[in-house]
Amino acid sequence: MGDVMKVAFIGLGNMGLPMAINLVRAGEQVYGYDLSPAALRELALAGGIPCDSARQAVDGAEAVISMLPASRHVHSLYCHPDGVLNFVARGSILIDCSTISPATSRQASKIAEECGLDMIDAPVSGGTQSAQAGTLTFMIGSTIEQLARAQPLLEKMGKRVVHAGSSGAGQTAKLCNNMLLGILMLANSEAIQLGIANGLDPKTLCDITNNSSGANCALKTNNPCPGVDPMAASSRDYTGGFAVDLMLKDLGLAIETSLQSGTSAALGSLARNLFALHSAAGNGERDFGSVFDLYGRRLA
Ligand code: NAD
Repeated sequence: MGDVMKVAFIGLGNMGLPMAINLVRAGEQVYGYDLSPAALRELALAGGIPCDSARQAVDGAEAVISMLPASRHVHSLYCHPDGVLNFVARGSILIDCSTISPATSRQASKIAEECGLDMIDAPVSGGTQSAQAGTLTFMIGSTIEQLARAQPLLEKMGKRVVHAGSSGAGQTAKLCNNMLLGILMLANSEAIQLGIANGLDPKTLCDITNNSSGANCALKTNNPCPGVDPMAASSRDYTGGFAVDLMLKDLGLAIETSLQSGTSAALGSLARNLFALHSAAGNGERDFGSVFDLYGRRLA
């Protein structure tokens, strides 16, 4: 790999765009593709090179990074017989940062291997604020050698890179984490609404809780109550964060994984059902902190 790398970046959404911009800032040549023309314009404004197709973006790239919504998008990018793998230069490294099913990750990695390419799963934790600040945590499913190849690039977008195990293991770690995050967001909402309904100022309550035994990362960096944290998505009408439908997808993947392993995910199942109801009520695209509204109505 030379000093300046040609990197293809597929999927420039809430997470992918700031990650791609951090690579541009670190001096890499970033060729981006997204279905959204607005996202391509943003990339161009930041100094990246917008492309008309994924195929054009990967042409001559030394690394391909994808940050797509769900398994089916990653499957169609890498596993389709006419997909981009036919056009990626041999010796390139493929890094999928999307949160998808471990089985799809393993399948894509196997197909890549058959094409003589290294592919790793590298889902992230940290949300849009960390994506912008370049402080994401990457959870890696790969061989040690594959990780060593990807590490310099990952360090330009994140502050921690953790090897979880072989192909698919990064996804399994991510699903465990997000099941916990979904449960915590509901629990935080429930507790704050209880305080408000009983006369507490939510800022004061969260200040107390953040310094007490109920403290948790979701409360510190994703506070669901509007106005408590000006940086949280809740303070901009639940826009530009982690969508309810993405959390619903991750909880579904966690439940699927629990069924496959014969384990219980009692709270995870409850959380999935509550997020499903919230999504069905028209909140699918809002930040997942908007489940705060589920508890807003006084029942008695
Ligand atoms: P997003 O919906 O904002 O972005 C996805 C982007 O992919 C969109 O811009 C969309 O136009 C694009 N896209 C869809 N299909 C495409 C295709 N075929 N070719 C090119 N582009 C395509 O989602 P996001 O919030 O950026 O999340 C991306 C992934 O990261 C998801 O798997 C999500 O679960 C995970 N994730 C999100 C967060 C978060 O806080 N938002 C945090 C950690 C992980």
